[in-house]
Amino acid sequence: MANQPHASGHMMPLQPPWLEPVRQQLVRRGRGGRLPSGILISGSPGIGKALLTTSVVQSLLCQRSSGDEPGCGDCNACRSLEGGVHPEVRLLEPAEPGKDILVDAVRDAAEFLTLSGSAGTLRALVIRPADSLNLNAANALLKTLEEPPAGASLFLEAARPASLPATIRSRCQQVDIASPTINEVHDWLAADTDQPERVAEAYAASLNRPLLAREILTDAAALEAWETDRQILTNLLDASNLHSSAAALQRSVPERLFPRLQALLLSAQRLLLVGQLDAFGEQFPRTQLLDFARARGARRLAWLAQQSLEWQRQNSANLSPALRSEAIALALGRR
Ligand SMILES: [Zn+2]
Repeated sequence: MANQPHASGHMMPLQPPWLEPVRQQLVRRGRGGRLPSGILISGSPGIGKALLTTSVVQSLLCQRSSGDEPGCGDCNACRSLEGGVHPEVRLLEPAEPGKDILVDAVRDAAEFLTLSGSAGTLRALVIRPADSLNLNAANALLKTLEEPPAGASLFLEAARPASLPATIRSRCQQVDIASPTINEVHDWLAADTDQPERVAEAYAASLNRPLLAREILTDAAALEAWETDRQILTNLLDASNLHSSAAALQRSVPERLFPRLQALLLSAQRLLLVGQLDAFGEQFPRTQLLDFARARGARRLAWLAQQSLEWQRQNSANLSPALRSEAIALALGRR
């Protein structure tokens, strides 16, 4: 990771550029004692919700930074934050990944917020992810959001903010992180890899999610997963053999493949209608993609793109993988 000098003289990691405007804005509000008591940070998985929360909290608790500077990364406060032991910060997360956050955990965290902290400092509760609060837990949280203790701020991170009760959403200020363009993230991604020539590919493969792109660039398993998916999708484009398509689908990891399949179908549609490849489509042979698009037509491609979301949902339903793969291969095939 590239470094940049901090006012304290300490070298710190390059700040994620697409998060900078909102980070600075929240930090300035925090310094002025005007941080909302509920901040709902939304955006796709891998877009940097946790990174934003962490850097806002760090800026505000750092013993050296001032103004809207990022935390120094070196003082006691920054170090205890990094170690997850800062006394003014509590992380509320499911006991196991993918499980709900339960009401007892919320009550416990709400009590932490009422304990008297050092005057004038931020006391932060980070809920990661907030869309895993079950209904009772969300209701228990509501009281704290309605009457927050002085100095307390709740950071709710959610990929699916619409799944939160409206009563929770209406008591938070919503900060939505949109997908940055490749130009906005290129240097940040390139600083982290010895293969800067693959940045554009990784970003396309991540479907414009910077943290996932960084994983593809730095983690051999994530790169291999992308290469596997690209191979499967290339097979599907060919689609001359129903059985090999179905077999390829069955080997795939659906929650990873289907969003990429949808991106490929949208690329094919765009190529057909506008004659241009987007960044995701550029990862596939143009002639093959164009042949695939022509054989199906724009309307069918739009329907298939919509359908790919449905296939992803069905993945959690109790259907036979073999039958499902065959039905999908059939739908994608030539008519
Ligand atoms: Zn610091």
